[in-house]
Amino acid sequence: MNRSVRLILTALLLFSAASALPARAQDEPAALNAVATFSVLGDFVAQVGGERVNLTTLVPAGGDPHTFEPSPADSVALADADLIFEIGLGFETWLDDMVSASGTGARRVVLTDGLDLLPATPHEGGDEDHAGEDYDPHVWLDPQRVMIMIATIRDALIEADPEGEAVYRLNAENYVRELEMLDAELEAAFALVPEQDRQLITSHEAFAYLGDRYGFTVDSVLGITTESADPPAAALAAIIDRIRAAGVPAVFPETAVNPSLIEQIAADAGVSVGQPLFDVLGEPESDGDTYLAMMRHNALAIVSALAPAQ
Ligand SMILES: [Zn+2]
Repeated sequence: MNRSVRLILTALLLFSAASALPARAQDEPAALNAVATFSVLGDFVAQVGGERVNLTTLVPAGGDPHTFEPSPADSVALADADLIFEIGLGFETWLDDMVSASGTGARRVVLTDGLDLLPATPHEGGDEDHAGEDYDPHVWLDPQRVMIMIATIRDALIEADPEGEAVYRLNAENYVRELEMLDAELEAAFALVPEQDRQLITSHEAFAYLGDRYGFTVDSVLGITTESADPPAAALAAIIDRIRAAGVPAVFPETAVNPSLIEQIAADAGVSVGQPLFDVLGEPESDGDTYLAMMRHNALAIVSALAPAQ
């Protein structure tokens, strides 16, 4: 066999071996550079992109996307990105400036596109700067809406990296199956709380989409964003009145928000304080270090505080 024939055969063999693999081999470079704006979106993009995507998440687990302050290293990641995955709707208040400063040519993929959105309802005394935000951005707290977000991520990855199509489709399908199981589990868990007692009062208004899916009304101390962490006395008196009127046994702090204010309000209203809820991922090894884990933790925390004693 001459040298050039041997080379061609070797190349064919390598090619067929590579295309039979479900994902790239460990030592190959990733096919795409992607940026996700915060921890939960980072989990979603990693689930669909797997090894083919070199992913940078801007706001890490435990961090609050509302009050994030980007570092110079974050701009470097943006400059090299092929895709940026964001919520949109003005949620990432800091992203437009970062994008212009970095000069990135990345495609921005807005994950609220195509979703049924709920209106934002800023409370009296809330941050006036955000009165113009028409829609509530916390869509990821409803697993059914997340299934649509996963399809958007899948399609954006396929468009940017067509060779990975089979991998992205398989990964998305597997994750949607996990989301369907999660959704069924949550529905069964929340059924333990009588309908008239499904009232969720939290530090800030992150849980309207969870409420929309599972039949909870929602209210909060801080309103739709956490940027005004020091509400006026009139707003605090109003939420205490609303808690008393609601007749709830407990209100809930959030893991990424300082709990001292809602603890004080709970004491003043004479109700207990539930376990903190995750609306972003928790630190590694915590109960909320993946989206699936944080949603199960939240369901357990809500049901144990609001369901009648068995
Ligand atoms: Zn929020």
